[in-house]
Amino acid sequence: MEIVLDHLTKKFPGRGKNRQEVIAVNDFTFTIPDGKLAALLGPSGCGKSTTLNMICGLLAPTSGEIFFGDNNVTALPPEERGVGMVFQNYALYPHMTVEQNIRFPLENFRGKDRLSKEAMKERVLEAAKLVHIEELLERKPSELSGGQQQRVAIARSLVKLPKVLLLDEPLSNLDARLRLATREEIRRIQQETRITTVFVTHDQDEAMSISDLIVVMKEGVLQQVDSPQKVYDDPANQFVAQFLGTPPINMFDGELKDGQLWIAGEPVLRVAEGESVPEGPVSVGIRPEGFILLEGGAMHNEMVRPEITGRDVSVIFRNKAAKTDVVRSIISAEDWNHISGGEVHFDLKPAKVYLFAPESGERIRLKLEPLAQS
Ligand code: ATP
Repeated sequence: MEIVLDHLTKKFPGRGKNRQEVIAVNDFTFTIPDGKLAALLGPSGCGKSTTLNMICGLLAPTSGEIFFGDNNVTALPPEERGVGMVFQNYALYPHMTVEQNIRFPLENFRGKDRLSKEAMKERVLEAAKLVHIEELLERKPSELSGGQQQRVAIARSLVKLPKVLLLDEPLSNLDARLRLATREEIRRIQQETRITTVFVTHDQDEAMSISDLIVVMKEGVLQQVDSPQKVYDDPANQFVAQFLGTPPINMFDGELKDGQLWIAGEPVLRVAEGESVPEGPVSVGIRPEGFILLEGGAMHNEMVRPEITGRDVSVIFRNKAAKTDVVRSIISAEDWNHISGGEVHFDLKPAKVYLFAPESGERIRLKLEPLAQS
């Protein structure tokens, strides 16, 4: 089921003395295609939960509309939208067994939708199998691990065969290892069921690893809606570039001058022929994998310390001329073997270098090339 948000806005009235109105969600328009998993990603307070609650029907928008397929659901109550919802605190009924917990939503079906006991049993078993907890049906929630409880909560949301699945930070109460395993599980379940899923997280790694589509937001304003790869490779602005990527993108003060990009008083790249160059200061973002180690390269750096992660080596450098800038670079283990310590020079891979307007952080799209190329 495709989900369409059309100019969706939610304002909350101000409280206290100055009664400043909060625009939690400001004019969101985007589409989540049928069968895809979208992550709503952004820092605390950016409007993720508010957006999710409007999609499920717990909150009414101030303006704008929500469509599930061709169906305008804006005025429908949650129970008529066909959504399954999982919150960060699993909210299982402690006195019920796992089986009773999963079955509970089916008990409320009335009239022609009412299911026989056998049909309910079958549905519960199907949902339990999907999340791999069919062995635990007789247990009480207190006898389960956090990860198992979260699977029960997911099974309970799937048992009604929802057209849309909504997950609000479903992994935040799990420890690091379980988080990783459970997010893979959520991806597997989503791919098996092909239920259009919206997943709220403030964790960019989580969003990058499981979603088809990332919706990046900040203070109620939509920043970018794209695939994880596109959001990483082609960020709309400095906020998106800095929010995504581990280690994070390196930021420098730079300057566009004489058809070249300068950092810390040295030219590092040149602007391609035919591009008109807006001269002046720019913010320069360089992804950690954008550095080429060289004997006589452009940027002079001292190595601070390596972080060896296996196949790659993440090295922290201090840029000599910019002094305070610490550069995080990912290089191959082979390149790492050529570093004897001390001073290192970098050249830059133009495709991994991004320019932004210093004030607004808007992307400046210029084609850059290595200096040596003529
Ligand atoms: P978090 O990651 O911390 O859960 P979030 O991105 O989910 O944050 P929301 O909970 O959607 O953010 O909140 C967005 C903004 O709306 C925040 O500034 C918040 O303080 C405000 N807000 C949310 N609910 C209400 C409410 N009922 N009344 C007034 N303001 C609210």
